[in-house]
Amino acid sequence: MDTSTLLSTGLEPARVRFAPSPTGRMHIGSARTALYDYLLARRTGGQFILRIEDTDTKRTVPGAEQELMDGLRWLGLEYDEGPDVGGACGPYRQSERRELYHEQVTILQEKGAAYPCFCAPDRLERVRRERQKQKLNTGYDGLCRSIDPDEARRRIADGERHIIRFKTPRQGSTTAVDVLRGPITVPNSQIDDYVLIKSDGLPTYHCGAMVDDHLMAITHVIRGSEWLSTFPLHALIVRAFGWEEPVWIHLSVFLKPSGKGKMSKRDTSVALDSGYSIYVSDLRDFGYVPEGVLNWIVLMGWGVSEGDVMTLDQMVDRFDIANLSPAPAAINFSKLDHFSGTHIRALRTEDLAARIKPYFTSAGLTVDDARLLRIVPLIRERLVTLDDCLPFAAWFFKETVEPEPEELIGKNLTAAQSADVARKAYEILAGLPAITLTTAEPPMRHLISDLGLNANQVFGILRAAVTGQTVSPPLFESMEIVGKEKVLERVSRAIIILEKM
Ligand code: GLU
Repeated sequence: MDTSTLLSTGLEPARVRFAPSPTGRMHIGSARTALYDYLLARRTGGQFILRIEDTDTKRTVPGAEQELMDGLRWLGLEYDEGPDVGGACGPYRQSERRELYHEQVTILQEKGAAYPCFCAPDRLERVRRERQKQKLNTGYDGLCRSIDPDEARRRIADGERHIIRFKTPRQGSTTAVDVLRGPITVPNSQIDDYVLIKSDGLPTYHCGAMVDDHLMAITHVIRGSEWLSTFPLHALIVRAFGWEEPVWIHLSVFLKPSGKGKMSKRDTSVALDSGYSIYVSDLRDFGYVPEGVLNWIVLMGWGVSEGDVMTLDQMVDRFDIANLSPAPAAINFSKLDHFSGTHIRALRTEDLAARIKPYFTSAGLTVDDARLLRIVPLIRERLVTLDDCLPFAAWFFKETVEPEPEELIGKNLTAAQSADVARKAYEILAGLPAITLTTAEPPMRHLISDLGLNANQVFGILRAAVTGQTVSPPLFESMEIVGKEKVLERVSRAIIILEKM
């Protein structure tokens, strides 16, 4: 990286964390947050940390953490610290940090900024409903705020069930600054005495994330805009501890393709029916290249020019949080196709060959590597996803092809006329020392004009005969790879089929 531009960003090395909750599948919203985290860390020569926020045990989904890690690695977003790579600030799973939260919350209690609450859930529910009726805010009524600390200690020692709440100041207001939106001010009377430690002893997000961001020396918090409503509370908690605040960045939301509202379950299944998905592992399985996915999501909320094609390294060089936008971004799947195809075309032949080979092997085909390297340049332009290699090129690895008899008939020709065309083409091809684009195309063009036909008619017959399908890579280059012997064998087989029709 060019250090002069690094200095011009005015940033010290940033420590940034991606802090997902393992409660479901990894979608493009999380992937974008992780990507911006990664870019900021790499741009400034800092660190990118993965922290698993798994304290809502009821919502934890088995396998979700692994999916997140696999997703990050597939995208190429290698993290410097995390549950499976370690680091100086571990453990990196919140469920394994219980003691740390208790220590910190005790300090907060000593400062008078947190208190134990012994209210039973049914009382809280009753209070909530009553306050709702009276059109008051439905937060906690503060009954336990004034319990004497000695009495509270005694009740806790007696084993009384309790939680710990934040003692939100009743007076005044709180201003917190989001980089993309500027200052946000809320009267403190609107901020609830939120729970910090739940009755199961685990912290809520409000507590766990603030404590960890401090203990892990996080400099920039990049997260979803769903956290804007509790953002002032978070600033209050950090300030109550007396810690320095990180830079806060709340990203824009993704809207459904129509731009009207967020993606619903129904929108997700409509997308799936058309071969698209908002889930990272689906996109991988559908054959999208990670470079294309990254390029697609990076532009949803980053104000560089829309058409910009960038590799991950180029994104790092250009990234600047000042250019992020808080405006909602509609998901546009045709852009995903565009960026996937564009990045596939930019891959080196060997790289693309290695990436498509598994598709042929999983289809039960035996792949000759030298042949694959010759095929790649013929199909590269046409691939949007890697699995597109199958319809275009699987036939190259089959001993024989099975054209539909009707497909051997040239457009506006009869079967007999088509057989005649195929016979004449056979004679020409058989007379060539080898079949290549330069040897075969000129005499074939002559044949076409001698017969008063058009190229589509003649090439259509040959394409079906040689490749077994109506769509294929360029005909003569394909024949060159298949080899003269096989080409002649296939054309003569086509002649026999046509003659029998
Ligand atoms: N665990 C939170 C979530 O999944 C993380 C929010 C944050 O990055 O602070 O939404």
